[in-house]
Amino acid sequence: MAARLETCACFCGAVVAEVEGDPFWICYDHDDDCRRAIGGPLTIWVGYRPDQFQLKRGKPKTFSKTPGVTRSFCADCGTSISYLDAGIVDELYLTIGFFDHPERFPPEAQTYWRLRLPWVEFADELPRIDEYSRPRNAKFGNPRDR
Ligand SMILES: [Zn+2]
Repeated sequence: MAARLETCACFCGAVVAEVEGDPFWICYDHDDDCRRAIGGPLTIWVGYRPDQFQLKRGKPKTFSKTPGVTRSFCADCGTSISYLDAGIVDELYLTIGFFDHPERFPPEAQTYWRLRLPWVEFADELPRIDEYSRPRNAKFGNPRDR
């Protein structure tokens, strides 16, 4: 059987990518940095190993505010695309909105639950994690402390 292949594109279509195989982690994220960077009340991150990702067209623009954290987005239409953290080297997170079939990525946890907006409610039974769900390399620490 061929490996799972998911296709991705930004709103304008200038950036197109593919990811092969299954993601290792999918989570809601209620943290305030991502809220501001992405423009929604929360997002869902889909985690892959960087070598599963292949850019097919265009080149996202990158931006870093927190040392070690690199976000990417389409320079033409602004679609948020990815998140990389030097403290978690083998993990690439893609925004669920970048996927052509976001319905295929049910989240596994609610992360940064303590920073959710007061009117955000979910009826799911997923674990509520008040901080990051992935351990950072101690040398870098957590992005919020940098
Ligand atoms: Zn675009």
